Amino acid sequence: MLSLYLHIPFCRRKCPYCDFYSVENGGRLLDEYPSLLIRHMERSAERNLWSGPCDTLFFGGGTPSLLAPEAIGSLLRRVQEAFGFSEKAEITLEANPGTVSSSSLDGYRARGVNRISFGIQSLNQVNLTSLGRLHSPGDARRSIEWAHKAGFENVSADLMFGLPGQKTSDFMGEVSELLSLGVKHLSLYGLTIEENTPFYHLHRKGDLPLPEEDTFREMYLALHDHLEKEGLVHYEISNFARPGYECRHNLNYWRRGGYLGVGAGAHGFTSEDWGARFSVPADLQTYERTLAAGEDPEVLLETFDRRGAMSETLYLGLRMREGIREKAFRRRFGAGVAESFPREISRLADYLVLREGRWRMEVSGWLIYDHIISEFL
Ligand code: SF4
Repeated sequence: MLSLYLHIPFCRRKCPYCDFYSVENGGRLLDEYPSLLIRHMERSAERNLWSGPCDTLFFGGGTPSLLAPEAIGSLLRRVQEAFGFSEKAEITLEANPGTVSSSSLDGYRARGVNRISFGIQSLNQVNLTSLGRLHSPGDARRSIEWAHKAGFENVSADLMFGLPGQKTSDFMGEVSELLSLGVKHLSLYGLTIEENTPFYHLHRKGDLPLPEEDTFREMYLALHDHLEKEGLVHYEISNFARPGYECRHNLNYWRRGGYLGVGAGAHGFTSEDWGARFSVPADLQTYERTLAAGEDPEVLLETFDRRGAMSETLYLGLRMREGIREKAFRRRFGAGVAESFPREISRLADYLVLREGRWRMEVSGWLIYDHIISEFL
């Protein structure tokens, strides 16, 4: 089974906190980009390194909803020809409210997209303005409504917390509203300050007051309690879903499954041997030139040895509620988790549990996940 990630590196306007690769106003390249993706996919299919059928496909960005339904449709047709789709393939499109309409959502659904993930970020206009987002709370609400009308049953929303001046009660109100709008999946991210972004410079100058660590902690724990009471599963550090609506594409990443990354700035991973990661340079002109010259756009980023693969299996697995199955770990590596990492496991005893044959992290451990993974690096 194949997992396929297609990166669409175009945005209407760059948000001041974002360090993902994307360019504003793609112009000619935005129109020509789908044919580059098709050429890239054809090269990958010809090399027979990846075999179908495709079980999960994710259009990520950037803003994939800047591509018209016809362009998305032609990409899906090409994936069908090259790899085929499994019967229950999950096909996700990331979309920004304000870049979709009732008819574009109808068009995506009609062409086979069956999961839509909206970058809503906030339902509060003050927050949206400070985040530099172009859409309004009304756009967000309308987009969700249109998606349901278009026949999307699987609608996800991204929301941000830990924003300047944000109160826990206001944020929880936004979360409840999204649930009442029928969203089945929520990705909730704390605002982080990334280097080389306008927010980074504002923060350094002291012009971007962020909530204290305690407030952040309070928001995260309140979210966990509230959403679990509402019947959602906190299935990964930042992700909650109604049962059965977990994102299969992302679960494959955290389970350290292989995936093919296509597009400028995309990453890929093969789980052959102990695993290797690839990246496609985040530069549209280089991408175009490489493909025109008949060369592979991927470059090898890193290969793993046994120890590296064990560490990564552990710290990716601990992001998920399901954790890591001790038996599977032992089968893969010839040794169990505790005997492979005795010092780390004893240092982290307050946060890690072995229950029903699985190593899992407590929610309190997820709050200090960055510290915990540093133990395994
Ligand atoms: S729309 Fe998304 S990908 Fe584009 S700049 Fe904003 S946060 Fe980054």
